[in-house]
Amino acid sequence: MPEKCKYELKYFDFTSGKNETYRCEEDAVKDGLCIFHHKTYWKEHEDEVRKKFIEKVEDAINNKKPLLCIGYNLPEVDLSEKKFEAPAYFQYAVFYEKVNFCKAEFNEVDFSFAEFNGEANFSNVKFLCEAPFYNTKFYSKANFFGVAFFSKVHFDSAEFIEEAYFYEAKFLNEVSFSEAKFYGEAYFAGTEFSKEIGFYETNFSSMLDFREAKFASGAYFTRAKFSEVDFFKAKFSSLVTFNETKFLGKALFNYSTFLDAASFVNSYFLPYALEKCLKPCNYISFRYANFERQEKVVFDGCDMERVSFLNTNIERVKFRNVKWRNFKIYDEKLFLLKHLEKERKKFANECEEKLKKALDIVNGKEKDEEVKKEIYYSLELKYPELKEIERLEKKKRNEEEEERLRKLKNTFEKEAKIEIENALKSQRIDFSEVYLDEDLTLENVLAVYRALRENYDYYLKYDESGKFFINEMKLKKRFSNFIERVVMSVYELLCLYGESYTRTIVWILATIPLFALVRLLFEASSLVLNMNSLMDSLKISTAAFFQLYYNNDWLTILERLISIPILGSFYIALRRKFERRIRH
Ligand SMILES: [Zn+2]
Repeated sequence: MPEKCKYELKYFDFTSGKNETYRCEEDAVKDGLCIFHHKTYWKEHEDEVRKKFIEKVEDAINNKKPLLCIGYNLPEVDLSEKKFEAPAYFQYAVFYEKVNFCKAEFNEVDFSFAEFNGEANFSNVKFLCEAPFYNTKFYSKANFFGVAFFSKVHFDSAEFIEEAYFYEAKFLNEVSFSEAKFYGEAYFAGTEFSKEIGFYETNFSSMLDFREAKFASGAYFTRAKFSEVDFFKAKFSSLVTFNETKFLGKALFNYSTFLDAASFVNSYFLPYALEKCLKPCNYISFRYANFERQEKVVFDGCDMERVSFLNTNIERVKFRNVKWRNFKIYDEKLFLLKHLEKERKKFANECEEKLKKALDIVNGKEKDEEVKKEIYYSLELKYPELKEIERLEKKKRNEEEEERLRKLKNTFEKEAKIEIENALKSQRIDFSEVYLDEDLTLENVLAVYRALRENYDYYLKYDESGKFFINEMKLKKRFSNFIERVVMSVYELLCLYGESYTRTIVWILATIPLFALVRLLFEASSLVLNMNSLMDSLKISTAAFFQLYYNNDWLTILERLISIPILGSFYIALRRKFERRIRH
């Protein structure tokens, strides 16, 4: 009797509903293993392995027997349109070449820990059962176009080395991609998610496309990492969370709809890290987004340096602890870049400075934990092992771990330097996208300021609202005609556009003594200054300033004229300060 294959492995059996030991029943051919379990046998006997495998599959399908391919090593196989009525087990199977499951149907299946070295074609497959792809590795293209998952889907810790296509896939039950890693581009455009989905700590190192995706239930992207992501016209019908999510490149939410709560708590808006700062169009965009229940949309602890809200109603959105960077909005910056050469030069200089500073920090010449973190996060996308640094730094390390930490830090320094130096060398900033941006009009930018002002007023944060107002006015002034500019400059000087009554008090306190002094110098009969004449002059000046004194002396007329705009703006500034709270 020939020797049997020695391969065995514990697995979960769908029929018995418990863990069983799988023992291969094939005859051993080499090294005590069968044609399927030997790692390299298939290479010299490709046809034999394929033929026997297909026979096994046919037998299982025809006789409705479970198909056990646990740990198999397989060459290119075509299983398209096969309907597996009994359970199929592919755990730890290694598909060395292309595999085609197109239009297949599974009733019970497990692909956990499987490896696909060639293209994996799951297009239009029907998973009538749960679809476990735990820790599955796709080294080549993963094609799930039009796939229908009728039950729960688990891609937890799966790795997609190249592109992953989930176009028009239907996820009819819960989905989890937690801690999965997408190194290539990932396409979920037009995908429908009927139940809750979890992308907890999922890594997307390349472009991620969620255009027109539909999220019918909760969508959790907590602590996920995005390199570049597009949610154009996506529809979130229920809660969506991006808490602690890292946006490390351009992120577009244009025309997306949020029907319920959206949470951006401690989200890292870092679309400008390292060389990405050179692209002015690397920003987080919520243009034309529709926040249906604004009071349930929260931005907490986010850095708003590069966020665009053009043409979006944000009057009731909640902004808490966000960093507005001098209360200037990025839309203004983009608008200025579009129209003023001076601003473009300034932008280039700022980028250079930022990169140089980053280089100094990497070289240890300067210390800035914030910037260092920023560099870490953006490198982590390419080198996920760097994530360990944070973990190792926090704990007590043994010698081996100390060595590992040192190595990781070296990698970090080396790679960061290369990236920054390359960016500094190229320094090419492409403004073409900004020039072509038709939404960048003065009116639209001012509208964002007005919306923010309205927002902060509504939530009784008057100081911040005032700061937005000042920036709004300053921008308006820059693009006004000469006369308007003069009037606005005076208004700014007098009371900071009605936002500073203290500035007006300074004017009052300066004007009265000034006129008193001038009056004294011109009108005093003798040049001897004494206390009495000074007091008299001050009294007259004060009276004239408050329109209580009149003679036809030109000094009095001048003082009374000057006092009008000062007193007027004092009234406006005071009113704005103390009467705001009854506006709503
Ligand atoms: Zn075997």
